[in-house]
Order: sequence, then structure tokens, then C-alpha cells
Amino acid sequence: ASDPKLQSIDVSQLQIQKSTTPKDVMPHDQLVFGRTFTDHMLSIEWTAGDGWLAPRITPYQNLSLDPATCALHYAFEAFEGMKAYKDRNGDVRLFRPDMNMKRLNKSVSRIALPTFDGDAFIDLLKRFCKIEERFIPSARGYSLYIRPNMIGTQRTLGVGPPGSALLYVIASPVGPYYPTGFKAISLEATTYAIRAWPGGVGASKLGANYAPCIVPQMQAATRGFHQNLWLFPGVDERTGQQEDFVTEVGTMNLFACIRSPQGKPELVTAPLDGTILEGVVRDSILALARERLVPEGWTVSERPFTMRELTEASSEGRLMEVFGSGTAAVVSPVRNIGYQGKIIECGLPPDKEVGEVTLRMLDWITGIQYGDETHEWSVKV
Ligand code: PMP
Repeated sequence: ASDPKLQSIDVSQLQIQKSTTPKDVMPHDQLVFGRTFTDHMLSIEWTAGDGWLAPRITPYQNLSLDPATCALHYAFEAFEGMKAYKDRNGDVRLFRPDMNMKRLNKSVSRIALPTFDGDAFIDLLKRFCKIEERFIPSARGYSLYIRPNMIGTQRTLGVGPPGSALLYVIASPVGPYYPTGFKAISLEATTYAIRAWPGGVGASKLGANYAPCIVPQMQAATRGFHQNLWLFPGVDERTGQQEDFVTEVGTMNLFACIRSPQGKPELVTAPLDGTILEGVVRDSILALARERLVPEGWTVSERPFTMRELTEASSEGRLMEVFGSGTAAVVSPVRNIGYQGKIIECGLPPDKEVGEVTLRMLDWITGIQYGDETHEWSVKV
């Protein structure tokens, strides 16, 4: 049953208008992330008086927005990123869509946009994916990236809760993140800009969290780094020392495999304290690690960890591997981290691009996403 606190969507009211000018499906090897889109879009309008109106699937088209639309001035916008995969039998599958619905509801609530019934919306997503099925390549590593987006549409320069909103979905066929095999990345631990802070909105997937990260990313790129590693400075309560706590990467959560001085391996990631995005892949990695790595002697921890700890582990040869996690790449191996003018090596030998745990996580998760392993996380469309 759906959550009564969420505003209802009437799926039975769905109107479908098929495109009369179907696009050519791009050859696999020419796909660029987020550049080409499918034939249709899914839209639902909301008004404060009437709630969610009849959902519509229409040809992909421009939006018509008044220049005073509140989303364009005050950033009333929240989004999601998820994928549909084609399995060996040609069936289309979503991966833990309930998690994306929960997160979007949390994000929109934070900026006074309306909540919605996630189960009903998943039904609509399934209808949409079925219609766009021909755009989903069946080769492993390929998928259909799905972008739900909610904007406040009220025409006003007054700063207040939007009286109208639009929830819409577009989709883009995507290829493997690393088409020629893994390429380990370099991160710049960023000490001059802060992505999110306690009491802020870092845990919400708001467009407003992303635009301010681009200038630091461009600056990191000029120094040869692929992404920023976001830190949060603070005093470690256990030691009283000032530390740089590790939070997350540009669009990924971060995991480190650290061997304790006593020799016990630990998989560690930052806790959900409101400053990092609650990644679907992060949650999946933690669950799989608790199920499959703990019996092998691993400790799995969501706990604060610091650049000092990574630096020490690296210099003592105890930093085994570091990787990012997210929907785009699933996992992304990290070769090294630039920090305070020094380079911290993250355990990868020079001739390797990916560590063992990172690779096992990739195999486990893609096995579930593509339906090779039967699992409750994989939802058939
Ligand atoms: N952190 C940020 C800031 C992100 O944008 C993303 C991508 N959604 C993630 C982490 C990873 O989240 P997920 O595993 O749900 O893709």
C-alpha cells in the first residue's frame, strides 16, 4: 500500500500520444552520455488546488515556461538518476527504483515542492520504459539513463512555496562508462571550497548543489585531477585534533579498503549525516559487503574517516583500494588523491586499473542489474 502522506497520482488517467517522427537509434559506439534522448517524455502537472493531474506520455518536446517561472529564479528543482537495463531474455529491468522515489520525495519536500506516490510513479516509469524499449541496447554495460525532474512552475518573483509544479521524465541511451576497460581516476581533495555542511542540503538531490561544484572541478582539472574529493573540516571528538573528514566525490560516494595495523581489512564509507547524497549504489555495496565480505573477515563501516587516516594507511602500505560508487559507472577505481600539495597513492599497482574488491562489487551489482542473478533489487518492467 502507498504512503498516505504522499500525494496520489492516478495512473489510470494516463494519456499516451505517440511520436509520429520516430528517431533513428544511434549506433552503440556513438552514444555520448546525456546527449541523445528517446522519442517520448512522461509529464505530470501539479497544482496546489487539484494535486497531481492526469499523467501524459507525449513526444519529447520543449517546455513552454513563463520567464518568471520560479524554478528559473530560485532553483525550485530536484532530480533523480536511474537506469533501465535489458537482460538476456530481452526483458527490461529497473534497479531499486523505490530508493530513487524515496530520495526524490525527500529532495522535493526540502524545497516546498509536492510529494508524490512513488509506487504509482514506478508504474508510469514502467509504461514509459516499455514504449522506449527499442532505445535500450541489449549489450552488457549499456542501459537507458532515466532522468526524473521536478520543477516549481509558478509564475511569480515572490519568494514562497510554488503553487504549481511539473514532474517529468526524459531518458537517454548510454554506453559503458569505461568503454575500453577501467581507467583509475585521480581526485583532488578540495580544501578551498565546501560542497555541503551539517544542517545544509547536501543529502538532497537538488540542482542547486551541482552548479557550484563546476568551478572547483574546472580548477582541479587544470591540475590534472578528474574530480574533486569533497572534505569537511572539523575537530575529531576522539582526539581533539583538527581534521579534514572525507565526504564524497563529484557525483559518487567514496569507499576505502583499509587494512588495520593488526591486519584486519575494513571497507569504510562516510556516514549519512546529511552532508552526502544517500547513494543507491552506496547502499547496495554496503548490503552486499555485509552479506559477502564480512564472512571473509572484513569489517564494514559507515563512520567518519579523515585524510590523516588515508595518508597514514597509504604510507604504511595499508590502503588497499579506494573507489567511488554511483549509478553512472557503478564503481570507479581511484588511483591517487592530491591533498595539500602531496599525492596519496591508493593501493593500485602502476600496471593495474582496478582493485579486487572494486571489481567484485562491479560483478555482483551488474549481475543483479542485468538479471543474471535473481534478486529482489531488480524489478522487471
Ligand atoms: N553523490 C552525488 C553528489 C551524486 O550526484 C550521486 C549520483 N546520484 C551519488 C553520490 C551516487 O548516488 P547513486 O548511487 O544513487 O547514483
